[in-house]
Amino acid sequence: MRNETPDLPRRMLMGPGPSEVHPRVLAALARPTLGHLDPAFVGLMDEIVQMLRQAFQTTNQLTFPVSAPGSAGMECCFVNLLERGDSVVVCANGVFGMRMKENVERCGATPIMVEDPWGAPVDPDKLRAALKANPGVKTVAFVHAETSTGVRSDAAALCAIAREFGALTIVDTVTSLGGIDVNVDAWGADAVYAGSQKCLSCPPGLSPVTFSERAAARVKARRTKVQSWFLDLSLVMGYWGDGKGGGRTYHHTAPINALYGLHEALLMLREEGLEQAWRRHAVTHRALVAGVEAMGMKMKVDAGVRLPQLNLVEIPAGVDDAAVRRRLLNEFNLEIGSGLGAWAGKVWRIGLLGRSATPAYVLGCLTALEAVLHSAGAPIQLGRAYGAAHAVLTA
Ligand SMILES: *Cc1c(COP(=O)(O)O)cnc(C)c1O
Repeated sequence: MRNETPDLPRRMLMGPGPSEVHPRVLAALARPTLGHLDPAFVGLMDEIVQMLRQAFQTTNQLTFPVSAPGSAGMECCFVNLLERGDSVVVCANGVFGMRMKENVERCGATPIMVEDPWGAPVDPDKLRAALKANPGVKTVAFVHAETSTGVRSDAAALCAIAREFGALTIVDTVTSLGGIDVNVDAWGADAVYAGSQKCLSCPPGLSPVTFSERAAARVKARRTKVQSWFLDLSLVMGYWGDGKGGGRTYHHTAPINALYGLHEALLMLREEGLEQAWRRHAVTHRALVAGVEAMGMKMKVDAGVRLPQLNLVEIPAGVDDAAVRRRLLNEFNLEIGSGLGAWAGKVWRIGLLGRSATPAYVLGCLTALEAVLHSAGAPIQLGRAYGAAHAVLTA
């Protein structure tokens, strides 16, 4: 055991999260801790809720950050909307879709799987067929931005189909919120969760959620208690406020300083503007792709369904995945992500999440990758990536 806090390295965070945290957010975390019912803090809570509504593009009353990471936001949606014996259509095209299935089973409900291969988006026609074949399904769940594969699904289309069949939707926007268009009201999505450490660029540990009137009505009409005390919306809203001006009561001690950080990050997103943030992600993505391809490497998924904020690059034949990532970390302070599941060892996942989506990070990443791959003897084109990326950034 050491007697002093160790010095930690400063990394360029370009994996699948956490992303770069801006000094303004780090400074906000260090503000004086207040009581969780202090009137000075309550004002901040109201602003967080307002800014979350703007980020989600919703007027949903029931909007707040769950005091736990994205997986808890996921669980919050499932435990509140589902009751034992329900049937739920789960669309899965990667790791997080399969985590949704786990949630359904643990709620005592039955998942009906609509599966698409890794690298493909959720197929709306398959969802429609599943709903036709299973009348009475009340809930459809899918992931908007599948972080394991770097693929975007058509959330508007999937929500529209679910509504046609009278089903509510649970939508994972953990990796999408702040990076690409998440429009909860235009989609007509019902229970939507996100995370703090992806495109919002906060430290991990908070999960913004939002629920439509239909979802709130479903929760109110439950025959059974929500099995999780901590995540029970009817209880937790006593603290976050019901929007009807009722007083706030103790539920759990909120992570006050973490919420200062979220407040600051949402302020920064608002200052930049949602659309400008999406543009920044799109441009840095195009630059990264140009550089990767100029080196002679390939992107893993089709251009039409790629997430700008999560880029899957095929590892060239004969290259040692772990050794390259270790050298990037040790020699360049650069973190990129490894592949998951069947794609482990086959791809790298390069994140351009939130504040990591900058020209300097793209150019730095390409230069470091080129240096490490070249010295490892990989068959890449030297001296082309920087120029190709730079041309996109300055176009
Ligand atoms: C990261 C992520 C999660 C889980 O969030 P945690 O904060 O790690 O619990 C869920 N879904 C998707 C799509 C993610 O990318």
